[in-house]
Amino acid sequence: MHGLMMDRQLLISALIDHAGKYHGDTEVVSVNTTGGETRTNYATIRERALKLASAFEKRGMKKSDRIATLAWNNHRHLELYYAISGQGLVCHTINPRLHPEQLIYIATHAEDRILFFDQTFLPIIEGVREKLPGIEAFVLMEPRNVELAERLPWLEFYEDFVDSGNDGHAWPDGLDERDASSLCYTSGTTGNPKGVLYSHRSTLIHAMMSISPDVMNFSARDCLLPVVPMFHVNAWGMAYAAPMVGAKLVLPGPGLDGKSLVNLYNREKVTMSAGVPTIWQGLIAHLEATGEKLPYLQRTVVGGSACPPAMIEKFRKDYDVEVLHAWGMTELSPLGTVNNLKNKHLALPEAEQLQMRLGQGRPPFGIELGVFDDDDNLLPNDGETQGNLYCRGFWVINQYFRGDGGDPLHDGWFPTGDVATLDEDGNMVIRDRSKDIIKSGGEWISTVDLENLAVSHPAIAQAAVIAARHPKWDERPLLIVVPKAGQSFSEDDMKAFYDGKVAKWWIPDTVVTVDALPLGATGKILKNVLREKFGDALMGN
Ligand code: ADP
Repeated sequence: MHGLMMDRQLLISALIDHAGKYHGDTEVVSVNTTGGETRTNYATIRERALKLASAFEKRGMKKSDRIATLAWNNHRHLELYYAISGQGLVCHTINPRLHPEQLIYIATHAEDRILFFDQTFLPIIEGVREKLPGIEAFVLMEPRNVELAERLPWLEFYEDFVDSGNDGHAWPDGLDERDASSLCYTSGTTGNPKGVLYSHRSTLIHAMMSISPDVMNFSARDCLLPVVPMFHVNAWGMAYAAPMVGAKLVLPGPGLDGKSLVNLYNREKVTMSAGVPTIWQGLIAHLEATGEKLPYLQRTVVGGSACPPAMIEKFRKDYDVEVLHAWGMTELSPLGTVNNLKNKHLALPEAEQLQMRLGQGRPPFGIELGVFDDDDNLLPNDGETQGNLYCRGFWVINQYFRGDGGDPLHDGWFPTGDVATLDEDGNMVIRDRSKDIIKSGGEWISTVDLENLAVSHPAIAQAAVIAARHPKWDERPLLIVVPKAGQSFSEDDMKAFYDGKVAKWWIPDTVVTVDALPLGATGKILKNVLREKFGDALMGN
């Protein structure tokens, strides 16, 4: 017997319908790619998304066709999110920092039919356009520009595209919540990028969970600024969660430097933000240099790579900002865990509470985690036994797009490629990525732990530890650091800094100083590049 309740589908269009109807005048502030800003609201975003959806229909776009975007976080990108998925098409967000060859690979693999892009990326498009014969229209996300239109006859303009749609369009009937809604490729540091195809259902359930108090705790009283890009894993779902609760949204456009962000936080009274640690390093450096404060920002989600404890502490002590350390992956839409205390922890002394807040947190309802040994045996959740982290849940991948990337599952679980410990409450600590962890003389060394300590040194801005090949121990830790401006230190000084904080045999053999660390398309340190460069540095030892 079925229940006798309305069988309404969980569709992405419902999000913008809700925000347009009940939070219509709530502001969406967008920094424009070409300078200046646009102040719009949810009612207008919805109206324009519907008109855009009608334009797609008139162009002959059929259900599940892929429409690509190559864009910053801005209001037009938000309109595209809702127009594309709302019309039953698939919003394929492309990371503009990818190598052009990878971009061509994924746009071809996805069979994108239209590509929308921001002006910043016009040179990329000019370079790859002829290698993308399947794309019927290249649309610059700006009003018509006469000079460009004359120079590039193939170019279309966003505002003309919107205007070609009809007013009074309605979302199509008959969409199923299991239909594909958006597509994001993993950054593919090795091998080809793999497509993760989200559904309306997985996206809505993920958004409903993400707004809840123990996860991101969003409300209609918040003002959200996602620094995390809409071009990678849907800005960690914030582009869906914000309209769900009717939060004011500030979209920062291309300016993600400390100065631009602090200006936006303070002028728009942003209460909540989210980004990867490298973004916050830039922000903190700016705050320290200028003495500016963050009087409105209450909390920020930090994830994508391990958040150094020193950063959590600095945000709390110097800026009264609470860091929510989170872990996730493209294959998980992306949220897997968030660090929030339980009732039983509230009576603990502050120092113990702080200690608990350093890990990656615990899974919310909808995600289940396990640690396994190399033979797929389940290991205990004792907070100590480290193993391969596997995951399953309502918004976890089942298969890669077109099956390219192999079968991602082991016996119904998705192996994450991370090595972690779990305690009996599900509190997780990521020890490392399995391809980064160091095996020295048969024992494991966590590069994450060594990096976290390095950046707590007052002279160090950024640090990466890699496994360097070693004739006797197989692998040994090698520390690569970027010093803070005007600061210096010696190798012995750095080794002495580790002394007493980790086991003696964990202390890196060598310290290399560099001007900058190589960053990948999502702002993470590219350890494979560092391994290529420094991986043999200890072979003479
Ligand atoms: P890619 O880097 O391939 O684009 P994702 O963006 O999906 O992939 O990143 C997922 C990976 O990022 C995780 O498997 C994990 O290694 C790392 N990661 C994400 N959040 C954290 C965190 N809070 N602490 C440590 N590692 C993290």
